[in-house]
Formats: sequence, C-alpha cells, structure tokens
Amino acid sequence: MSEKYLSISNGERCPVCDNSTMKVTAREIEVPHFGYTLLYSSLCRNCGFRQSWSYPLEARSPHRYTLYVSEPSDLTSRVIKSNTASIKIPELGFSLESKMSSDPFITNVEGVLQRAKSAMQTLNSWAESQEEKEKIKKIISDIDLAIAGELSFTLIIEDPLGISTIKATNPKKLKIEELSSSEDLQ
Ligand SMILES: [Zn+2]
Repeated sequence: MSEKYLSISNGERCPVCDNSTMKVTAREIEVPHFGYTLLYSSLCRNCGFRQSWSYPLEARSPHRYTLYVSEPSDLTSRVIKSNTASIKIPELGFSLESKMSSDPFITNVEGVLQRAKSAMQTLNSWAESQEEKEKIKKIISDIDLAIAGELSFTLIIEDPLGISTIKATNPKKLKIEELSSSEDLQ
C-alpha cells in the first residue's frame, strides 16, 4: 500500500466553534482492489471536533456539484477539484475552466474564494482598459463580501471524469447530478 501526503494545513475555520484552529490532513493511499483513495481528517485544537472520511480518486461518470452558500459555516465545506474539473460562481461572474486551471487542489469553499480572488488580481494586472479594470474590481469586492459571509452564492463544479467532489457542511445545500455524457457539461 503506497501512501502520499497531499496537503496539511493548520488554521482552517472549524464548522463547530468557528475558530481558525482546525488542522486538516489529506493523504492519498492506494488500496488493493479499490485503487487510489483520498483519506481526509481534521481536528480542531480548540473544541476537539474531529472528522474523517475517504473518497475514491478513480475516474467515474461525469458529475456536476452545485453548492448553495448562504452562511459562514457553508464556507468550511470541503472541495476536491481534479485537474479535469471547472469551477463556476455565477453570482460573482467568476469561472475557472479546466484548461486554464489544470492544478488539482483540496481546500474548502473559503479557499476556492481566495483562489478566485488571486486569479482576478492577476487578471486585473493584465487588464488594458479602465472599463475592464472596474469590472474586475467589482468582482474582487464581491469575492471579499463572500469570504466574509455577507454574500450568498452558488458554487458549481463540473468534472467530466467525476473525480472532483464537494463535502458539504450542510448536505441539504448540495445538489449532485450525474450527467449522461460530457455533452451535458456547459
Ligand atoms: Zn472547533
């Protein structure tokens, strides 16, 4: 059985006590007969909240995950994005196509927003017209509101290989659709 650490982060926000005291570890292991599996575990140093789950990293059918984010605890929902997936946040006018963002990552919704913000800041430095800069500035300030939990939005992840997933803090806010073919991907 081979094992690889994918990420370890300290100081993530705890969904229970809301302090930034969560240590999160993600490991990839190869399980005989099951293939590559992601093992994820978190522990809060403040309140002792503990969580762990595993997820198969083998290709499946195309999937779309839609998470409705309307309160701060939703920002702690876990996001696994493979290199084949695209991310969209329609309310913020933000999208990351898979061809532009081939890096796979494991983070939470807040982490996705931070990535979106830095992508927009890069875009801003390339912007040529004042109009374009104003538009990007508006998106960045909306992203800041979303990070602060003051703006509701929808996070959509589409993955033609079905490897990506969202593990919602509140599962009722997550819609999972299996798509019949990659033609359904918009
Ligand atoms: Zn806690």
